Amino acid sequence: MTKALTFTVQNPQPSNLSTGSNGDSQSPKQKCRLGQLEFTPPTTTTATTTDTTKISLETPNFFQYTIQGLQPHLVPEVASHLESMPPAIRVNLEGFVKDREIPVSTEYPGKLHQFLGYPENNSPLLLLDIYDPVILERNIKPNSKSLGVDTEGGLQRITGKGLAKIVEKYRPDIFVLPADYVFSKIEELYEGKRVKKSVERTKNWITEYMDTSLSQSQKPALFVPLTGAPNETLREASVNFVKELDADGNVIDGYVISEYGIVGGYPLEKKLDMAWSSFSSLDQNKPRYMVGVSSPHDVVMSVDSAGIDLFDATYPYAVTEQGFASTYVFGDISVESRKDETLKGHISLWETPMFGDFGPLVPGCTCFACQRHTRSYVHHLLMTHEMLATVLLQIHNIHWYNNLFKAVRSSLKDGSFNEKKCAFLKNYVKQGEDGNAKYLLNELILLQSQTISPTTKAGYKKFGRRLSEDSATTA
Ligand SMILES: [Zn+2]
Repeated sequence: MTKALTFTVQNPQPSNLSTGSNGDSQSPKQKCRLGQLEFTPPTTTTATTTDTTKISLETPNFFQYTIQGLQPHLVPEVASHLESMPPAIRVNLEGFVKDREIPVSTEYPGKLHQFLGYPENNSPLLLLDIYDPVILERNIKPNSKSLGVDTEGGLQRITGKGLAKIVEKYRPDIFVLPADYVFSKIEELYEGKRVKKSVERTKNWITEYMDTSLSQSQKPALFVPLTGAPNETLREASVNFVKELDADGNVIDGYVISEYGIVGGYPLEKKLDMAWSSFSSLDQNKPRYMVGVSSPHDVVMSVDSAGIDLFDATYPYAVTEQGFASTYVFGDISVESRKDETLKGHISLWETPMFGDFGPLVPGCTCFACQRHTRSYVHHLLMTHEMLATVLLQIHNIHWYNNLFKAVRSSLKDGSFNEKKCAFLKNYVKQGEDGNAKYLLNELILLQSQTISPTTKAGYKKFGRRLSEDSATTA
């Protein structure tokens, strides 16, 4: 049987890297890598021809972030005009669960792609996972039989079998198998019995899912989550389970490490070490997806230290929600006309001086917003709470984020990654007064700790309530 989803690792030549000016500091075990993810959609029943458009994704790359299947602030018509975005979206099942009912519309005849408005023969690669990566803490009471989803009608439980039915109905291209994540920033929770339970429950749920036969002709590609961090023995148990599951190498298509699976409180370096310890003993020719890690410096570090191939795009959304436009640059910043702004990582369109600034959001940017509109106009839209403000900012921020990935890939190709990585981290990660690293591109953390986003007056009520309680206890 030929696989619908394939992944090819195209590592940079180590000889190129070692001849660079930073050649000596190059680690002999190169973790960062280039890859090519290819997906052949199933032939549709209504298609008149048999040709299927193959979806190609160069990695490192990202899945576009969605809320209830739609990109924040961008209706599909606008989103379709964004240039050269990765043709891949991440849908969170959680967003579809509105009450206690199983979140499957049994009446809708098509698959999730069509429900979300994508044409049958030209849909993006659709990955279905369970939880929204922006939300890091939940109270969902999982047990050995089922995971929990917090809905407006109360807690809903879903078993492995239930998930299989949902997948059968939605027909995603990739499904991330369930895991019992420890949704908390309390480190002690990760040290004791809770992690042991997490590994066991994950195993139970996945086994039940795998034992439920699906009737559809093309089953989704499966990404499997790795759990057990920070306990080495449990990490190993999780890896061994994945190996058993994939005994013939044909069941699992990719690996997932989730931010909430590896402790919100630990420094990123430590999390990446844990992630690498799991990845390194698994098949090196399968893609690695890091859920919940999205800030540019985190992306660069994850590519470098754990060989991550795929990310989320929650960061540009977080930047937009603050009324900011991204300005960070991965590469030579000496040529930037507004170097002060570049080094800041973003500009705030709320600020009063923007009132009289008739330049684009970022000089030289080729996005729709920068080509047609001024800072002054976006400032005006924000002040009057016009929705177009966040539309234009999101267009710029997602375009800018896409540029980051393009720059990372091109530096991996020409061997300049190491040099640019060092410069980038020097610019955007500073030493704090307490001796800890201070990450300048922290808009995601800002969003996660806010009661209500500054750009939405009444929105995200539930989201806001939950987070305000959390920030009150963690402040
Ligand atoms: Zn722009």
